[in-house]
Amino acid sequence: MKIGIVGGGTSGLLSALALEKMGHDITVIEKNKIGGLCRSEYVQGYTVDIGVHAITMLNDGPLINLLKRYARYIPNFKPYGDYYIRLDKLYNIPVSMQEWTTTSIIPNRDKVLIISRMIDLITSGFSKDTSVYQVIEDMNLSEISLKFLNTICYFLSGEDMRKTPLWRLFTGAGYIPEDDILPFIYYEDLKINPLKTVLFKRINRERIKKILKEGFLHSIKSGSKKYLNKFIKKSRYWTQGYPLGGIQSICNSILYSLDRTEIVQGEEVVEIAQYREREENPGYILYTQDNSYYCDVVVYSAPSRYLPDITDLPEIQERRDRLKGIKFTKSLTVWIGYHENPLPYLGSEIWIDHPCWATCVTNYDKSLAPPGKHLLGFSFVNTKREEALSVIQEKLSIDIDRTHMLHFQECIPEQASCVVGQYFLYPKIREDFYVVGTDADPRSMGITRAAYSVQVMLSEFERSQKNKD
Ligand SMILES: Cc1cc2nc3c(=O)[nH]c(=O)nc-3n(C[C@H](O)[C@H](O)[C@H](O)COP(=O)(O)OP(=O)(O)OC[C@H]3O[C@@H](n4cnc5c(N)ncnc54)[C@H](O)[C@@H]3O)c2cc1C
Repeated sequence: MKIGIVGGGTSGLLSALALEKMGHDITVIEKNKIGGLCRSEYVQGYTVDIGVHAITMLNDGPLINLLKRYARYIPNFKPYGDYYIRLDKLYNIPVSMQEWTTTSIIPNRDKVLIISRMIDLITSGFSKDTSVYQVIEDMNLSEISLKFLNTICYFLSGEDMRKTPLWRLFTGAGYIPEDDILPFIYYEDLKINPLKTVLFKRINRERIKKILKEGFLHSIKSGSKKYLNKFIKKSRYWTQGYPLGGIQSICNSILYSLDRTEIVQGEEVVEIAQYREREENPGYILYTQDNSYYCDVVVYSAPSRYLPDITDLPEIQERRDRLKGIKFTKSLTVWIGYHENPLPYLGSEIWIDHPCWATCVTNYDKSLAPPGKHLLGFSFVNTKREEALSVIQEKLSIDIDRTHMLHFQECIPEQASCVVGQYFLYPKIREDFYVVGTDADPRSMGITRAAYSVQVMLSEFERSQKNKD
């Protein structure tokens, strides 16, 4: 079967890898550079990733499972370390209840209020569109606590606490299983569509009904010891890592494992038309400015808000408004090559007055910088370059005039950010048309999220193939 993949980022390449190994003929069409956001650039002797990255769920997550199954080798990941918050000094970010009770980041009164509200929410449940702000607005928290919660929200969704859903905070902290939010995202009308096979494999129909009926936080109550423990004990982050050689190493392991896939770089797909000439198995034509590519099946991995403009498929046109309304966040990353290392520990820190995520990636891999130099990455949300530089200067006393390398990147980290009222497209549109990427799954973040969507697509695709046979 000929499969055309639009976009060559993590989700497009992982799809190509798996579908090629299943015996199909694949063409990937990428308008810019292969790898998309999962890429590193080479700047003045430094290996600079697109954005500061930590890869989640490396123990048993979708990325690692797809690579184990289909790739020739898996990149080496170094354990990520810890997350800190910089105030007068560095503090651990509280995650477990034990840490919440002992943290000195926020005043004691706020700690008591926050912990008791968390327990309330865990026992009574809440709705998918409840925002973090809604559950704390009546608590009269101190400014530092509000700033802290706001920053954590930016970190998890790219938006503030008014726009961040509570479920994102709770799944991000590991208090509720990522899968338990799926029924809420895909089955708002409580009708369970039996075609959605992945959910049925992972959590059966009765469980989905139960979750929908009781509220997903009840799944903790009804027996998930593993998740309750995360709330109570300090057991976290060990599943996160950073790939040696930079984020490009993930992309390279996929590219090295492809044998027959045709990769077209530098061509933008401007139209996806149905090929109606063959009555049985009609297929599609992917038009670029200069060429046209025929395929039996389309896997679209570019942002789905552009889909209504390039295809007239009724299944897409009927979702036009929702697709066009998908909300995303812009990030600014500043990369600095410096002779000193102001972040001499494994892990990241966040700043709360100007939400920023800062890491020294040469702590994981010295080869990312010239000898004796350090590579520091700072990702901001909605911040201008000059403002970002002055914050960095102020926080870490870095002399910007003495930097060895200074590089800016403006990107959209996830095609759909996990905000209140967000629409996520389910990967299967038709038996022969699928969508993958970070707007086709709400679980986890970034590369792991993209990989989740590929798992769902593969499962649906295999099922369609079996039905045909
Ligand atoms: C600042 C920042 C921090 C991040 N931090 C993390 C992190 O800590 N952990 C993590 O896991 N992830 C992180 N990410 C996000 C992660 O890198 C991405 O979410 C992931 O790589 C997205 O993969 P994708 O395939 O869904 O999309 P993309 O990588 O965006 O791929 C889509 C591709 O489609 C191409 N395309 C678009 N339109 C067309 C068209 N019409 N025709 C042909 N090609 C087209 C694009 O050029 C692009 O290459 C971060 C990203 C940024 C920017």
